[in-house]
Amino acid sequence: MVECTLYIRQRQGTDGNPANEEPVLSFLYAGAGAGGQTMHELSVTEHLLDYCLKTAEKQHAARIRVIRLCVGRLGGIVPECIQVYLDMLAEGTIAEGARIEAEFLPVKVRCRDCGREGEITPHRLACPHCGSLRLQILSGKEFYIKSMEVDIDGDQSTASADGLE
Ligand SMILES: [Zn+2]
Repeated sequence: MVECTLYIRQRQGTDGNPANEEPVLSFLYAGAGAGGQTMHELSVTEHLLDYCLKTAEKQHAARIRVIRLCVGRLGGIVPECIQVYLDMLAEGTIAEGARIEAEFLPVKVRCRDCGREGEITPHRLACPHCGSLRLQILSGKEFYIKSMEVDIDGDQSTASADGLE
């Protein structure tokens, strides 16, 4: 379970200047990998969308543009699948057309032989220090929303759902 921060971008200015972002809440997602079952992207996406819509609503957002995810490489989540399901599920909501951006998180391990910590990849599953295969996985199954970009538009005339940019 990892805590992260959700950002709201005011609909002013022209681009994604991070200076316009301010943290509005923290989000905990505990679902991924619980009990070791495979998470299906469809149900993941349903939860994701539900959460994003509720959050955006609280912020009086007119539009969800980008949902940024952090995905552990061992979590088995395929961001491209999430995008496909989101396109389907979000139709007719303010998240319609939202883009998924995913950041992959490394798999961190602690070696039971040399005691040191390091990162492994699917191509190299051994301790980077001593080559041992006796590894304890420290992280790598995460799945959470890192941030979200929404439009907040107080002007009714431009708050309609279609044709923004
Ligand atoms: Zn080692």
